[in-house]
Amino acid sequence: MRNQPHKRVLITGGAGFLGSHLCQRLLGDRHDVLCVDNFYTGTKDNIAELLKDPRFELLRHDVTFPLYVEVDEIYNLACPASPIYYQFDPIQTTKTSVHGAINLLGLAKRVKARILQASTSEVYGDPEMHPQRESYWGHVNPIGDRSCYDEGKRCAETLFFDYYRQHRLEIKVARIFNTYGPRMGIGDGRVVSNFIVQALRGDPITIYGDGSQTRSFCYVDDLVAALVLLMGTPADVVGPMNLGNQGEVTVKRLAEMVISLTKSKSKLTYRNLPNDDPTRRCPDISLARERLGWTPNVPLEEGLQRTIEYFRAIAETRPSVEVHGDAR
Ligand code: NAD
Ligand code: UDP
Ligand code: UDP
Repeated sequence: MRNQPHKRVLITGGAGFLGSHLCQRLLGDRHDVLCVDNFYTGTKDNIAELLKDPRFELLRHDVTFPLYVEVDEIYNLACPASPIYYQFDPIQTTKTSVHGAINLLGLAKRVKARILQASTSEVYGDPEMHPQRESYWGHVNPIGDRSCYDEGKRCAETLFFDYYRQHRLEIKVARIFNTYGPRMGIGDGRVVSNFIVQALRGDPITIYGDGSQTRSFCYVDDLVAALVLLMGTPADVVGPMNLGNQGEVTVKRLAEMVISLTKSKSKLTYRNLPNDDPTRRCPDISLARERLGWTPNVPLEEGLQRTIEYFRAIAETRPSVEVHGDAR
């Protein structure tokens, strides 16, 4: 990567979990990085180290409003990803995906920038096809609690493909599956952060439903590597492309792994399953293997261990932050 030409890269949602890792990676590759974020779920702590780098620039801005900057590449990651936060203000969530996509596509069109959309496995809804391939159109409730996120992301994909067909924009659409690692929000309610913080505190581990639902967890470094590879592909590679780890585990098994890795005395406790919670999720990543030559290589145990170390440090400095285990 160090031999690649220097670029000006815009990352929306750059102060969030994935965005901050992506900023760090692109600064490491010697690019200029413009991080745009409204700090809804992202934090200044996530990017504090990066602010020391003169190639890094931070702009507080909400992507639902137009943005006029000059850049060569755009990674559009702005959108809350945790159910608790995206359901807190569902209208703003849809606006962020839809108005945000329109503004950034308009920007990409004006400056002739390549643009990548962080889409999601949620476009498949509660899938009837397993594992999920890109050709599957999904099984999504258009009017439920998760719809602001799922349908917002689906509409953003539509806009990307319409700008591609109508204006010949260079687009890349990544469908990201559950990703975890350091800098996940401590109180944002996602399963990996919840279980780790609960285990470290010796609190009950909150399993929603009976814990038989599955997810496939990808470590953040693997995912960021795939996003950068996808951005660098020839113009004919537009996606949508599944990015994730194929190791499928039940939520209950994840809880047991976290208890064992943290050597915690926490017990399992059961809560109601949220509405429309997908029963199974696992990506078919044949396309990414073929077009990116990419395959995730951090095993779940190792990624969890690294994430546990991060939360061990954070939990000690922020003991009062709630984990939202009871919130739904
Ligand atoms: P995150 O909540 O940590 O990051 C999202 C960032 O976007 C935050 O910094 C937030 O403040 C910012 N943001 C939200 N609304 C905004 C707005 N209107 N204007 C500007 N900034 C705004 O979540 P994440 O896990 O880092 O997810 C990043 C992207 O990847 C999201 O688009 C998400 O949908 C997608 N994704 C993530 C996962 C995952 O497992 N982490 C899976 C699928 C898709
Ligand atoms: N836009 C932006 N930055 C730019 C160019 C456009 O935010 O550098 C916004 C603009 O406000 C517009 C949207 O992107 O609402 C879509 O732009 P496009 O040119 O596709 O559509 P139009 O301006 O014709 O509605
Ligand atoms: N989950 C759980 N306990 C928690 C948080 C989440 O059992 O404390 C479950 C949740 O119901 C879902 C899975 O873990 O089945 C993944 O949830 P997350 O919010 O991390 O991601 P998503 O549902 O968007 O895949």
